[in-house]
Order: sequence, then structure tokens, then C-alpha cells
Amino acid sequence: MISNRKETTLLAIGAHPDDAELGCGGLLASLADKGHRVGIIDLTRGEMGSSGSPEIRAEEARRAGAILGIDFRLNLDMGDGQIVDSQENRLKLAQAFREYKPTVVATSHPIDRHPDHSAATALVKAAALAARLPKMPLNGSIHCVTRILLYCIHDVATPSFIVDISSHFEKKREALEAYHSQFVKPERGPEYRMIGVKDYIQTFASRAIHYGSQIGVQYGEAYVVESPIRVMSPERILDI
Ligand SMILES: [Zn+2]
Repeated sequence: MISNRKETTLLAIGAHPDDAELGCGGLLASLADKGHRVGIIDLTRGEMGSSGSPEIRAEEARRAGAILGIDFRLNLDMGDGQIVDSQENRLKLAQAFREYKPTVVATSHPIDRHPDHSAATALVKAAALAARLPKMPLNGSIHCVTRILLYCIHDVATPSFIVDISSHFEKKREALEAYHSQFVKPERGPEYRMIGVKDYIQTFASRAIHYGSQIGVQYGEAYVVESPIRVMSPERILDI
């Protein structure tokens, strides 16, 4: 079923509900504020999470998305803890690309302690290719994703660029706080705190401050791109 939807400027893809908010919530909110069409695809329902339930997390995701001002959100339910770059999953995601027509796709960086996050990177790249191959067993016309951005969730990679999210940081924090079961009152024992999950919101804020400090602003969001960005207007990218 293919609709005549208009193109989506930014489509964020997260392995679990809350990944997209953590990785690119500021950019999503910023673009939504400017009238761009933005959305999120969660690859799983987060059913293996140590806190909350799939139902609670779905409601939290709905509220977080509303806070950011996104236009749509869907869940492909590929199985928490078992995301693989399979042909079946490629076709599922590629079909969504053809339907929602994203110009830019953002997903997790492959260097990450959670295997689902690494698997998501490979899957998104493969699905983007599948969506533009005419002979793939997919419905609708081909679609070319222009750019894939990689965001960091746990580990740190050298950013290709950092987005100033200072004016949307509070919205991002509010969206993360909507994940009450995950970040505000997680049902986790002391063993979890030892690996740094306690005060997650503070941890994420510290990262935003760190990235912001690298570009001389209050809060930043870091992205990695794997191929050079074409610059048509050097004045804009160099702020001159
Ligand atoms: Zn995750």
C-alpha cells in the first residue's frame, strides 16, 4: 500500500524506542519547528528492556514524539536484541523508505555497546540501497536517500559535524523525560548503576554540553557521515 505522501526531510531510525530522541532529538525538533516533515521509525518495541513494558514504552514514545513535534512514527517490531541485517528486514525498511520518502536518514553509529545499534547501521544502509533498486520486490516507485547520518548513543566517535541544538535542548530533555520508565524512574538494581545508567538524563546533558563546547555553543548534537558532504554554498557552511 503506497500513498502519495510528500517527502520527509529527516527520518530518524532507532533500534529501540528512545534511541532516536537520544541521538537526534534536537535536530528533529529544530527541523519540525521550521516546518519540515520529520518522522521516526523504531525497529523494535524494546521488549527486552530491563524496565517498563512494550505497552508502556509505546505510550512513552508517542508522548516523546509529540513533544518533539514529529509528523509520524512507526514501529517495525523486528525483535529487541535480535536485529539482523536480513533480506526480510531490508525489505521491510526499504518499503517504508519508498512510502515516506526521506531525504536524510539518521541512525545509530555502528561502534556501540548494544549489538542492536550496530546492526541497525548495517540494516539502514542496505535498506537505503534496496529502496532505489527497481527490481527489488517492493511496492511503489524507487526512492533515493540522499544522506545517511550516524548519531552516537553510548560510545563516542569523532564527529563529522556538530549541530547547535541550544534552542531545542529543553524540548529534547522533555522528550527524554517522557520515557519515564527508562530514565526518570527505572526499575533497575544497583548492578545497573555500576555501569553508568543512573542519572542517564544528566549523562546525556553532559554529552550535549561537551559537543556544544566544541563548536562554541551551549548544547550540541554530533553526527558522523561516511562520505564527504557536497558544499554548494561555502559561505553558509563556513558562517561567512
Ligand atoms: Zn537502543
